[in-house]
Amino acid sequence: MLQVDLRELARGAVETRADLPANDPLFEGLDVVLTDPVRVAGRLQAAGEGRFYWHGSLGTRMAGQCRRCLAAVSVPVEATIDALFSHDPDALEDPSSYALAPEAIEIDLRPAVREELLLAVPRWVVCREDCRGLCPRCGKDLNAGPCDCPPAVDSRWRGLAALKDKLRD
Ligand SMILES: [Zn+2]
Ligand SMILES: [Zn+2]
Repeated sequence: MLQVDLRELARGAVETRADLPANDPLFEGLDVVLTDPVRVAGRLQAAGEGRFYWHGSLGTRMAGQCRRCLAAVSVPVEATIDALFSHDPDALEDPSSYALAPEAIEIDLRPAVREELLLAVPRWVVCREDCRGLCPRCGKDLNAGPCDCPPAVDSRWRGLAALKDKLRD
């Protein structure tokens, strides 16, 4: 249940819990391939005049691609959420603050779930910490063994070497 009636909140904190399917319209356009339902839990409570504080968490998994070897990987996406919902526009400078319309009769946590999920998505992933990646020259997956390319450049300089190759071309 991610829409909470303000009258219910007036009586005390409300537990929030929901499993949103990976294909829920809420996640449309996020450019993230979710493979598991999004589990949301938390507690919403009043925090002063016209302000409500939601402490919660979300968890799911997404399909990603190793940045080094391009293998498909399944990546956990987890986040702790501290969000403030407020009628007061001055309170909305914090990125985890959400506006409540003056005439609102409920708090809809779903936009916050969408936003916090997006923030929690890793910018890039690797299949494992020591993934050796693809040879920048022949494209061979170096996790399967060395390729036949001449002199192995120290891996720390691989990016620089690739750049040099590019500039030379
Ligand atoms: Zn990899
Ligand atoms: Zn090679």
